[in-house]
Amino acid sequence: MLEVIGDIGRRGAFIMQEDLAAFERHLAEFVGAKYALGVGNATDALMIGCQAAGLGPGDEVILSSHTMIATAIGIHSAGATPVPVECGSDHLIDPAAVEQAITPRTKAILPTHLNGRTCNMDALRDIAERHGLLIIEDAAQALGSKFKDKGAGSFGIASAFSFYPAKVLGCLGDGGAVLTSNNEMYERLWQLRDFGRNRKGEIVSWGINSRLDNLQAAILDYRLKKFDQVVHRRREIASMYQEALGDVEQLILPPPPDSDPDHFDIYQNYEIDAARRDELKAFLAEHGIGTLIQWGGVAVHRCRKLGFTQELPYTDYLFQAMLMLPLNMSMSTDDVEYVCEKIRKFYRP
Ligand SMILES: *Cc1c(COP(=O)(O)O)cnc(C)c1O
Repeated sequence: MLEVIGDIGRRGAFIMQEDLAAFERHLAEFVGAKYALGVGNATDALMIGCQAAGLGPGDEVILSSHTMIATAIGIHSAGATPVPVECGSDHLIDPAAVEQAITPRTKAILPTHLNGRTCNMDALRDIAERHGLLIIEDAAQALGSKFKDKGAGSFGIASAFSFYPAKVLGCLGDGGAVLTSNNEMYERLWQLRDFGRNRKGEIVSWGINSRLDNLQAAILDYRLKKFDQVVHRRREIASMYQEALGDVEQLILPPPPDSDPDHFDIYQNYEIDAARRDELKAFLAEHGIGTLIQWGGVAVHRCRKLGFTQELPYTDYLFQAMLMLPLNMSMSTDDVEYVCEKIRKFYRP
């Protein structure tokens, strides 16, 4: 990595250089989309994705309430109205809840492929087709994840990825990408991320400045080459958790790798439902095990200061139970066993 940084420094290649173009090509190919554009972060990717898709004031966009506020910010920044709905027991947006939330103003569905698992895109595409809706994907947590052998981020008119350091493919700061397979969208996104300039440098629309630094792109390109090993290890740890905790009846675990032929999961997070969640979290902390509650325990519809009024009882229930166990590339197999041993001890002292 130091070699990569040294090389970029010697060339003074900081903004929109060949390393960015190479990473964009490799990323699009990896995901199975036609085009990728590096941007400042996934929130910007969602924002310009919504704008380029033509969403604006008066339009409603349906999203899961179990997602980062960034998803809603992307919609709001385009001037449209985010409509959070319930997730299912797999923690991903519930297609039945999507269907119920559709009004004459609904223009798009913005599913989040949460925790490294791609949503049931057959169900969502079916709804979108029947109601004439666009799909924009929040794939910030899902690089490499697939549904029926098709990559997360390749289904919609646009998709957003994040390279925030804690994501499965992280850079040395903020970074993101917006992907599309639509030529017109690609031209609009190209302009939006770079001051509204077209390829000749002429100002042809309003835009913003949100470009993935060439240095970050070079680092990401380097890391992408070894990304399959990352996915392999993450799935291995998920299998170890399943093996050691699958019979603890106070827990509901995520589906293990290969349990469902339609899904290829990459375990950005290992999010469980746990009885006596807060006590378990405190017990693990006493034993040196850090756990997290996603989004600080606050679902999108609970951000009442932003004007949300929805009542989503299942999501509220889930937010009392969900907990993320450690799953990262610096964990040894002994570490995983230690976590499992402590969890078993908590429930069966
Ligand atoms: C991390 C994340 C984002 C935001 O990504 P940034 O690159 O930090 O803007 C959006 N949506 C989801 C689901 C995320 O996990």
